[in-house]
Amino acid sequence: MTDANPETQAVPSNFLREIIAEDVRIKKYGDAVIQTRFPPEPNGYLHIGHAKAICIDFGLADEFGGKTNLRFDDTNPEKEEQEYVDSIMEDVRWLGFDWERLCYASDYFPQLYEWALQLVKAGKAYVDDLSADEIRQHRGTLTEPGKDSPYRNRSVEENLDLFTRMKQGEFPDGSRVLRARIDMASPNLNMRDPVMYRILHASHQRTCDQWCIYPMYDYAHGQSDSLERVTHSMCTLEFTDHQPLYRWYIEQLGIFPTQQIEFDRLNITYTMLSKRKLLQLVQERRVNGWDDPRMPTLCGIRRRGFTPEAIRTFVAASGVSRTNGFTDIEMLEHFQRDDLNHRARRAMAVLRPLKLVIDNYPAGQEEFVEVANNPEDSSAGTRQVPFSGTIYIEQDDFREVPPPKYYRLSPGKEVRLRNAYFVTAQSVVKDEAGNIVEVHCTYDPASRGGNSPDGRKVKSTMHWVSAAHAISAEIRLYGNLFAKADPYDLAENQDVLDNLNPNSVEILTSAKLEPSLANAKLEDRYQFERVGYFCLDPDSTPGSLVFNRTLALKDSWAKLEKKTGA
Ligand code: ATP
Ligand code: MG
Repeated sequence: MTDANPETQAVPSNFLREIIAEDVRIKKYGDAVIQTRFPPEPNGYLHIGHAKAICIDFGLADEFGGKTNLRFDDTNPEKEEQEYVDSIMEDVRWLGFDWERLCYASDYFPQLYEWALQLVKAGKAYVDDLSADEIRQHRGTLTEPGKDSPYRNRSVEENLDLFTRMKQGEFPDGSRVLRARIDMASPNLNMRDPVMYRILHASHQRTCDQWCIYPMYDYAHGQSDSLERVTHSMCTLEFTDHQPLYRWYIEQLGIFPTQQIEFDRLNITYTMLSKRKLLQLVQERRVNGWDDPRMPTLCGIRRRGFTPEAIRTFVAASGVSRTNGFTDIEMLEHFQRDDLNHRARRAMAVLRPLKLVIDNYPAGQEEFVEVANNPEDSSAGTRQVPFSGTIYIEQDDFREVPPPKYYRLSPGKEVRLRNAYFVTAQSVVKDEAGNIVEVHCTYDPASRGGNSPDGRKVKSTMHWVSAAHAISAEIRLYGNLFAKADPYDLAENQDVLDNLNPNSVEILTSAKLEPSLANAKLEDRYQFERVGYFCLDPDSTPGSLVFNRTLALKDSWAKLEKKTGA
């Protein structure tokens, strides 16, 4: 983005910004501009945790007139796919950012290999024939030093010969690795001769069968940063212990000294942010794909109706820190409601319809009432909504026997139909099972527009849809995907997926909507009055619309109901 964006400007400073500001002040990188990168592995779809990293990487570079690369960290051919590459580019753009350069770690394979040879020649790397298990056993623990591999002191010649032949494909997968020769007694386990290359006869989505040795993350990442002359490589806290190794490679090779800085991962209550586990949800069909509106993926929350503006504001407000914590999902919802309140067009929709017949409304008459499209935004204009003698109201808006403090419709009570008329309930019609199928009422023609004709007051205003004009639609209501605030709060032998909320979606098939919604488009946002924020789902076809509830409005009655037990 070229314009400094107001969301990040409005937030208090943080330690990342302070470090960069200081580096700019002392001209640590001379006249070079600040360079950052966002480095996803293309092994899944981006989630809202990645949105935090994206906003930090792109947002901070932008603030300092710098640049950001999108770099695919594609060093794991078995788990990576072009589908993920494509979705990641789409999601970064959707969030509102654009990259300076599109890079792939795989483009650096030849250079990384050359540098590995350089380390071998300098006696800083060796080929090890131990198995993965043996290497693990030799590594030691936090309290015990590791043991040298019997192959640690191979000659440079032998190492060069073996490493070259590893590359040429002479050895089977897992038979040998290249390791950095650092310190098997280091208190930091990452420094105990970490693996640099493994043998893997797997076809890579970009380099195809060119390579059968692949660099490990720690060896590829810092060198890729350095090659791109990244000044500040910001990543999440789990890489803190890897930083000495990150610096070791750069120092040994004498290349551009990128600095790594760690910040906290975004964790949100009732939400699981891990590509690997999200993939499992998709593969096991616990959700309907990566873009299921219950998913915390960017494509999922986009389909649910969330907006990039609200996500950026939320990420900025949740801040950065040097310790991991949880952010309440209510905070995300708060910023999204705030955003939708300003942008969403109002409409009337009845989710669980109950027929209301106005006995004294002239038979066959219909009329139009004028309704504001968005009371928060007068430029949104008004529209004409049809009204007639038979309308739908919500089942919840009528009680034959009203509980205490119930101010909506009940026999003998008068309420306002929003922008239309005052009506008073008179009687009910029930089916054989005793369910109310129709409510009969009378209206006051003098209250047209919903205005009191004589100053008398009503306690409730209700939304409605004219039965003859209504369109039918399917409505999907979503709850949290997980039942526990911390989905990783597990009993013994439990998996995080055991904490899935079994009731995370409810589908209503007989909703009635005002006719203007027949023209809804995918990117439109609506507030269904008194019900919540909604958007059209891509499953819709012209004759059969499907709407997703992005978020409910805060329902004061539901709270009161809970409190009073009504
Ligand atoms: P996951 O565990 O979900 O696969 P990851 O860290 O493996 O995440 P990468 O593709 O390696 O995913 O991440 C790209 C960048 O996004 C990294 O810099 C990583 O630190 C950052 N990132 C990933 N998850 C989060 C999160 N929850 N909060 C903030 N940043 C994150
Ligand atoms: Mg990762």
